[in-house]
Amino acid sequence: MSGYLPYARQWISEEEIKEVEEVLRSDWITQGSRVSEFECALAEFVGAKYAVALSSGTAALHAACFVAGIKQGDEVITTPVTFAATSNSILYLGGRPVFADIKGDTYNIDPQQIEKKLTSATRAIIPVDFAGQPADLEKIGQIAQKHGLVVVEDAAHALGAEYKSCSQSKVPGPGSKTNLGKKKEEWIKVGSCGHSDMTVFSFHPVKLITTGEGGVVVTNNKDYCEKLLLFRSHGITKNEKKMRNKEEGPWYYEMRLLGYNYRITDFQCVLGLGQLRRLGEFLARRKEIVKMYNQAFQNIEEIITPYERPQVKPAWHLYVIRLKLSQLTATRRQIFESLRKYNIGVHVHYIPVYYHPYYQELGYNKGLCPGAEQYYEEAITLPLFPRMKDRDVLKVIDRVKKIITRCCGK
Ligand SMILES: *Cc1c(COP(=O)(O)O)cnc(C)c1O
Repeated sequence: MSGYLPYARQWISEEEIKEVEEVLRSDWITQGSRVSEFECALAEFVGAKYAVALSSGTAALHAACFVAGIKQGDEVITTPVTFAATSNSILYLGGRPVFADIKGDTYNIDPQQIEKKLTSATRAIIPVDFAGQPADLEKIGQIAQKHGLVVVEDAAHALGAEYKSCSQSKVPGPGSKTNLGKKKEEWIKVGSCGHSDMTVFSFHPVKLITTGEGGVVVTNNKDYCEKLLLFRSHGITKNEKKMRNKEEGPWYYEMRLLGYNYRITDFQCVLGLGQLRRLGEFLARRKEIVKMYNQAFQNIEEIITPYERPQVKPAWHLYVIRLKLSQLTATRRQIFESLRKYNIGVHVHYIPVYYHPYYQELGYNKGLCPGAEQYYEEAITLPLFPRMKDRDVLKVIDRVKKIITRCCGK
């Protein structure tokens, strides 16, 4: 790839384009069979019972927060190191986002900080699997269970990520001296809803697979699923069994709650099906690139490479380096701008959400989450997407090394 190297980019195959074309030539371009096919494939892939696909990841978050029952006056704990859509979904429903600080190694929300933010008004927790690395879902699930909270996991970065779940088996292990069972560990996929009530994915082109715009909520809860379907389509049902007035006639439909038009089209879902078939390949290539970066930067004192917890297999969506600014003669901005000058599409993920003027006007003050704020000062996202060639990766490595060498030695 020549010229500008973006930080993320979709990869759509000729076969996928043909499949989309076929749908466009058919009678049903929206609300046909492809939507439910895509939903079934997603549910099966992550290991959840139900999947409801929507027009965007943001719509999916909004829907999940709605069915979680978030309403005026409720507090919802989430991370400041995320895209604004995460906490906006709380605001849509009149709830109040409460930001808990991140951990210094993974940049994921810190369960201990969550516990500090609990009040009698807390209703839900929205952890984000930052950069594709699952948050401490097990611990967060335990906190939620203890306090009767709903967990809506924002896994926009983490389709295909896995984590090790330790379930203490009730039966004593053979030869075990204590009456505690043997600790049973198993790898489970993000979205299997082992520890979250609902998990949301995004199919925006920068994410792990794309449908142009699109998102999904997966869950094991049938009531949630039915409400999500209503919310996606104006709150309207055509299912006679669900209607209050059953005798009106064959034209009849009923609006049961205030929903939206958050539907996704058939031609998007057929693209999603093709993309999902290639997700394994995409993830393997992402992992390769991450390995190349990690090896190249491991001996550079001034750079902190991403930490990977041993209990997780991330679906690396972002590659974020952190600069040790006290050892550098240049600022983050200067380093960022030098890389951009070399046509490397670096980015910063994320500006702490409450820094945005809209949130400032709601009364959030700087200083709220010092860990997130310091992280923000030091972070730079390097390009990472499956279609990157080795030579693109080597170019990024070379430029980063040159710039750091030039301004180290403070
Ligand atoms: C992309 C993203 C969203 C929103 O998804 P869209 O499909 O763009 O609406 C929400 N949360 C996080 C963490 C994201 O990265």
